[in-house]
Amino acid sequence: MQYDVLILGRGIAGAVLAEACRQRGLSVHVFDRPQAGSASLAAGGAVNPVVLRRMHPCWRAAALMPVARTFFGQWQQRLGIRCWHETPLVHVFSGPDDVQRWNHALGDARAAPFITARAEPEIHQAPFHAPHGYGTVTDSAWLDIPQLLDAQRTELLGERALTETLVGGGDVVADPHGVQIGDVRGRWVVDCTGPFHHGPGLSLVKGESLTVRIPGLALSRIVHGGIGLLPIGGGLFRVGSTFKWTDTWEGTTEEARDWMLARLAEFLGLPAEVVDHHAGVRPAALDRKPIIGQTGPRQAMINGLGARGVMQAPWCAGHLLDHLMAGHPLDPEVDLARFR
Ligand SMILES: Cc1cc2nc3c(=O)[nH]c(=O)nc-3n(C[C@H](O)[C@H](O)[C@H](O)COP(=O)(O)OP(=O)(O)OC[C@H]3O[C@@H](n4cnc5c(N)ncnc54)[C@H](O)[C@@H]3O)c2cc1C
Repeated sequence: MQYDVLILGRGIAGAVLAEACRQRGLSVHVFDRPQAGSASLAAGGAVNPVVLRRMHPCWRAAALMPVARTFFGQWQQRLGIRCWHETPLVHVFSGPDDVQRWNHALGDARAAPFITARAEPEIHQAPFHAPHGYGTVTDSAWLDIPQLLDAQRTELLGERALTETLVGGGDVVADPHGVQIGDVRGRWVVDCTGPFHHGPGLSLVKGESLTVRIPGLALSRIVHGGIGLLPIGGGLFRVGSTFKWTDTWEGTTEEARDWMLARLAEFLGLPAEVVDHHAGVRPAALDRKPIIGQTGPRQAMINGLGARGVMQAPWCAGHLLDHLMAGHPLDPEVDLARFR
């Protein structure tokens, strides 16, 4: 069995890389087994181009958002599903400083294309507590990650292009022409193992989120007011998330659950019933930029997607494939060489 690209890991990084290969006519075989701590299994899937705490666009938002929009739009069309949802995000201001940052951003040419000041009837119809007002991020979206990963899994299994196992370091045998894992051979192997990867430059950040039911709440927007509230359909919402730099692999905790419910209660006067509780580990880079590049003559990696995996993954996959297949130089800002 000979493939162009073998992929280790099928969180959002590996899944997107597999689809990017397919779009370029490259054959892929993916090795993955879901594990506790996987970031993509805990992620809400919000795609927000603005850093709300500082009210400026996140890294390369203007370039990355259109790439993500086109990529996921084409992918869902090919699969015959609807997992990419254009979803405005309403940011409920925490106080006068937040309002001031927002007003400044409205006049800032970098931030202004993503945001607007407009009335949001849903915020007034539901018992949201917004004494300082709110602003809207217009360019945001939501990716239904479980739906997309499930659809891709079905497709890959049908093509015998997915092996649901964990690959140990010693299982990958490289020679100058390619790599071999068991009886599967590839020209390249790309490590997309996210927080499970042991390499320089990574700083792991634990996150927890909740799936809740809130009877009586109808919402088509993401609302953020100290914590995010994301409508995911069927009367359910994602609430999250937390950030923790210690005890990253400890799993779900009562403390985080209580903290998230308390933040939610501060800005929404409706009871929330917890349906599910998720914990994952974000594979963040020390400088908060992706980590891409070659780790050997036939080995490469994509990692460091941090808290913005959905927005960054399509650009990262395209950038790595341009490098491996067409010899394009790596952008120094994402090149893993910066951590060597
Ligand atoms: C609580 C929480 C909320 C978040 N919310 C959002 C959000 O709303 N929007 C957003 O864009 N991002 C969000 N993120 C960040 C996002 O989840 C990450 O950026 C992204 O999921 C990273 O994807 P990944 O594929 O690199 O890693 P992972 O999703 O962790 O995937 C790695 C995969 O590799 C597999 N693997 C590991 N080792 C091996 C091996 N040896 N062999 C085979 N397979 C292996 C694992 O089992 C796993 O399936 C959130 C993260 C958390 C924790």
